[in-house]
Amino acid sequence: MQQQADPTGRRRTALAAGVLILLAGCTSSRRDDAGSTGPAPGCPSTERAAPDPGRPVIDLDFRLEDDRRTVTGTEAVAFTPDMPVEEVWFRLIPNAPQSAGHELRVDAVRGDDVAGGGYVDADAEPGTPGGLYRVDLRRAVPAGETVDVEVDFTLRLTSERTPAGFDRLGVDDDVTWWASGFPLLTWEPGAGWARDPFVEVSGETTANAVADTTISVSAPEELVVLMSGDQEEPRDEGSGRRVWESHEPVARDVHVAAGEFETAEVEVDGTAVTVGAVPGADSSAEDLADATSDAIRLVAGRFGPFPYPTLTVALVSDGRDGGGEEYSSSILLGGDDFGLVVHEVAHMWFYGMVGNSQFRDPWLDEAFATYAESVADEPHDPEDDLDRGGSVGGSMADFSDQDDYEHRVYGKGAAALWAARDAVGADDFDRAVRCYVETQAWTLSRPEDLARALADLPEALEVLVEAGALDRADLSVGG
Ligand SMILES: [Zn+2]
Repeated sequence: MQQQADPTGRRRTALAAGVLILLAGCTSSRRDDAGSTGPAPGCPSTERAAPDPGRPVIDLDFRLEDDRRTVTGTEAVAFTPDMPVEEVWFRLIPNAPQSAGHELRVDAVRGDDVAGGGYVDADAEPGTPGGLYRVDLRRAVPAGETVDVEVDFTLRLTSERTPAGFDRLGVDDDVTWWASGFPLLTWEPGAGWARDPFVEVSGETTANAVADTTISVSAPEELVVLMSGDQEEPRDEGSGRRVWESHEPVARDVHVAAGEFETAEVEVDGTAVTVGAVPGADSSAEDLADATSDAIRLVAGRFGPFPYPTLTVALVSDGRDGGGEEYSSSILLGGDDFGLVVHEVAHMWFYGMVGNSQFRDPWLDEAFATYAESVADEPHDPEDDLDRGGSVGGSMADFSDQDDYEHRVYGKGAAALWAARDAVGADDFDRAVRCYVETQAWTLSRPEDLARALADLPEALEVLVEAGALDRADLSVGG
C-alpha cells in the first residue's frame, strides 16, 4: 500500500507533470537497463518460476445488495495442504482496528470434513466478532489430500471514515469497494497457518499463497464492476441486476469495486489494462490509463515482464484522498499521483508475484515498491533516510507507531536498496534482483531468499545488513 502522507517525504509529482518527466526517464531507463535484462551469472534459472499446480482453488460469489453497503457471499475453497492439517483458518481483514466501522461475519461453514468452527479475537477491533475464523475438521487431512470448505459470509460497510483514512473498504455516493472483503485463507506453504495478530499500525498483515480464483459479483445494473483478474462482459440477471465474472489463476487476494465508473482500456506489451475513475475524479480514466501504461513500461524495464496478462485499476475517490492498495492484478487508488501509480504497479512484482508475509517481513514488498519509484524519479536524499535509527527488518508488531513503520520500512528500506545498488553498480545489482524475482515468482519469499540472490555481491549484502534489513543468519542460509 501507499499511505496518504508521503512516507519518504519526497515531493510528489502530479500526474500530468509525471508524464513529462517520463519522456526523459523512459530513454535513460532503457539505456540504464540495456545490459541488465539478463539474469545474474550465478542465477540458477533464467526462467520465471511457475505457480504451484497444487495451489488452492477458490470460487468467490459476491452479491452487493441494493443498499450498496451490504455484501453477502459464499466462498468455496478446495485446499491441498503441503503439511497435515486438522483445521482450516481464515483471516477477517475488515475486522482490523484500522477498518473500524466495517464488519465481516461468517454465517455458515459446510463440507464433508467440516465439524464446526469459531472466531478467534487476534486483536481485532472490539465489537467485531474477531480477526480469525477457525474451521475444525472431522479428521486429520494428510499433506497432498484436498479438503473442501464452503463459507457463507456477510460484509457490512460503513460510509464513515475509518482510522486508515483511505481504506481498502468503503462506500461513497457513486461507488462501493471491498478488498480483502471475504474470509481470506491464510496458509503459508512450508510454514502452516499464518495466525498473526492485528496491529494498530495501518498496513497489510497477510501471508497468502496464490490461489486459482474465480469471482462472480451480482450488482445493481447501473454500476460497473472492476475487480482482480480477467473480466468477462456482464450478463443480465433480471430484477435490475447484472452479474460480472472474473478469473485470476494466481490471486493472493482480490479487490472488487462497483461504481458509476468512467472506464478506459489500453494494451501495454501484451497486458490488457482497464482503468476506471469515479465521476468528478481529478484524473480522467484515459489519463490514468496512460499513466499506468507508462508505469508498467518503466517498472518492467527494471524488473522484467509484467506478471499478469491483465491489470485493473480503480480510482474510487475524487483523487484528493491519496493512498493506494495493491491486490493481485489489480490496484485500488484513492489518489492519482504518478509516484503512487508507479509504487502500486511495482507491487504487482513485489507482493503480487513475489509474495511475502506482510506481517513478518513487511519491508520485502514495501521497501521494494518504494525503491521501484526511482525508475520514474530520482530518489530524494537517500542518505537522510539511511541515517534514520531503527532497523528496516522486523514484523508489524515491532513498530512503535505509524511514523516509525513508514520511516523504517518505506523510507529507510528503499534507501538501503538504493545504497546497495550504488555499492555494487546498477548492472550487477539489477541482474541479481532479477534473479530473485524470477526464482521466487508466485511463492512467499523470505529475507534469506533475497540474500541468496545477492550472494555474489557481498558489498550489497553488507549495506542491507547494516540497515537491519537482512541479518547475518539470512546470509548463512543464503550462502
Ligand atoms: Zn506499498
